Amino acid sequence: MADPKGFLKYSRADAPKRPTDERLGDWREVYAALSTEDRNEQVSTQAARCMDCGIPFCHSGSAGCPLGNLIPEWNNMVRRGQWEAASDRLHATNNFPEFTGKLCPAPCETGCVLAISPDAGGAVAIKRVEETIAEVSWENDYVFPRTSEEHTGKRVAVVGSGPAGLAAAQQLTRAGHEVTVYERDDRIGGLLRYGIPEFKMEKSVLDRRLGQMRDEGTKFITGCEVGVDLTVEDLRAGYDAVVLAVGALRGRDDTTIPGRELDGVRMAMEHLVPANKEVEGDGPSPISAEGKHVIILGGGDTGADCYGTATRQGALSVTQLDNYPQPPTERDDDRSPWPTWPYILRTYPAHEEAGERKFAVSIESFVGDEDGTVRAVRLRHVQVIRDENGRRQVVPVSDAVEELPCDLALLAIGFEGVEHMPLLGGLGIELTKRGTIGSGSNWETTAPGVFVCGDAHRGASLVVWAIAEGRSVAHAVDSHLMGASELPNPVHPT
Ligand code: SF4
Repeated sequence: MADPKGFLKYSRADAPKRPTDERLGDWREVYAALSTEDRNEQVSTQAARCMDCGIPFCHSGSAGCPLGNLIPEWNNMVRRGQWEAASDRLHATNNFPEFTGKLCPAPCETGCVLAISPDAGGAVAIKRVEETIAEVSWENDYVFPRTSEEHTGKRVAVVGSGPAGLAAAQQLTRAGHEVTVYERDDRIGGLLRYGIPEFKMEKSVLDRRLGQMRDEGTKFITGCEVGVDLTVEDLRAGYDAVVLAVGALRGRDDTTIPGRELDGVRMAMEHLVPANKEVEGDGPSPISAEGKHVIILGGGDTGADCYGTATRQGALSVTQLDNYPQPPTERDDDRSPWPTWPYILRTYPAHEEAGERKFAVSIESFVGDEDGTVRAVRLRHVQVIRDENGRRQVVPVSDAVEELPCDLALLAIGFEGVEHMPLLGGLGIELTKRGTIGSGSNWETTAPGVFVCGDAHRGASLVVWAIAEGRSVAHAVDSHLMGASELPNPVHPT
């Protein structure tokens, strides 16, 4: 039984962060390390704010956790100091709570009943509780290899090793299938490895989970592009089922901006991937922001990742641009009533460290030197409207043009879907109008025995959705192979 008055006794307190000058001197995670005793005591207090609602919107309804995390249950266990029970309950619905605890923007907190009223002190700090349960689990060996006692003799190939592919692989391995994960890059992890900067999640967090998966029996093959290095014929001959978890990494470009072709105008992932490889010890990034004026086009997560990366690389200045006006800092119920996703200014730790954000502006042109290198951007103040067909239009609101120095411009304006790859043609799979891989109601694509999950299916989305789809596709594949499945099935294809 929860303490129904806990939120009246205790204020919400987020995890403390390290001082910004210290953060900018290294790549480590931004949060401060507390003693185990202090951390657990603080988090138990935060968990005690949970009311154990009759209808817990944190894990039900359209705004809650897609994994169906049993949030009020583990909040209550943490409040009582029952960490091992909380770990079991959390891992029952989430393969990788340390990933979601560090990376998820927490739709559960958006949906929390305590988020309705400012007088209630804000949502329960669910993300902090989740991450701490995960850390306590690793520290106390509550996480260990859960090997299957049965071996079905069925072989499954998972193509792609981001969170969706890893979740599918772990579930299927634990169901007794022989699972091999293929990754075209040189290390396992997909976006978790080369898209997410170290200051958001250190790679050691990923590596320890991969160690558990290896010990459970999942096999990993890196440096292998399926459809090229492994032919489709060999893939089909070698496996009883295939899961496509290839992500949605085709970045949205804007070739209509004059000067887009200039040297120094890059896609966001061209900046993030080598920066992450450098942190892994692979040598200096060829696209470093050191000593440069950096302009980032796009106000979302990827833009913020470029922002924090550029400041750590020693940029002279970092400016992030957004077409939209600056949102309110408090929930605007006229535009997004609870429990829907709030229309609110999202501030990332990177924004506290250095640099500047500009809203309601758009790049009119990139300006280059005679040698074809970008040296400035010209901005206009704009508003975003919808035309008669509902299409988004960015229109200038004045003739005034502002020029900013720029040696490196990064386009972080979204993703358009799955990259074009020989594998899809070989399997006879065509992309949807959204650029994703479609499926039937059981996650199976138009190619029999080939299933899809994660961003490749959903379009670029949250890590929590990737894990949820990975778990559900595992249920579908297990059913396909065995006639029925007892694996959980938290979400359904849309
Ligand atoms: Fe607890 Fe908030 Fe979920 Fe209610 S909605 S059960 S207060 S976390």
